[in-house]
Amino acid sequence: MGRFLTSIQREALKRQGYKCAACGTRIYRLGRLGADLHKYGESAQGHHIKHAKVGGKDTVENCVIICQSCHYSVHEGGNYRHGKIVGKPSDYYHYSDKPALSSEERKIFSCIGIQIDEN
Ligand SMILES: [Zn+2]
Ligand SMILES: [Zn+2]
Repeated sequence: MGRFLTSIQREALKRQGYKCAACGTRIYRLGRLGADLHKYGESAQGHHIKHAKVGGKDTVENCVIICQSCHYSVHEGGNYRHGKIVGKPSDYYHYSDKPALSSEERKIFSCIGIQIDEN
């Protein structure tokens, strides 16, 4: 317990429209591979909405992908701390699957071989 499978993290990233669930910065790829393409050079990581220590599961429903510095701030009291999410699903990136890509972003996704469905 306590770590998400890569496949689960990929699914979560897709669900949230390839944006950080906390700040909305474009996330093309998970982990260090994504840092080169990240606007601020950060890697992206899976975070447990309900923390593993209090019984949160390693499932896609409990997973959000966020930037490294967002991850730090979450654990210091940000939006996803202790799974307390206030507001409607539409307020949150992690419920979105519509990336709304610019042409530049579309080019990058296509370069790294990720197929984006934009309907
Ligand atoms: Zn975390
Ligand atoms: Zn972020």
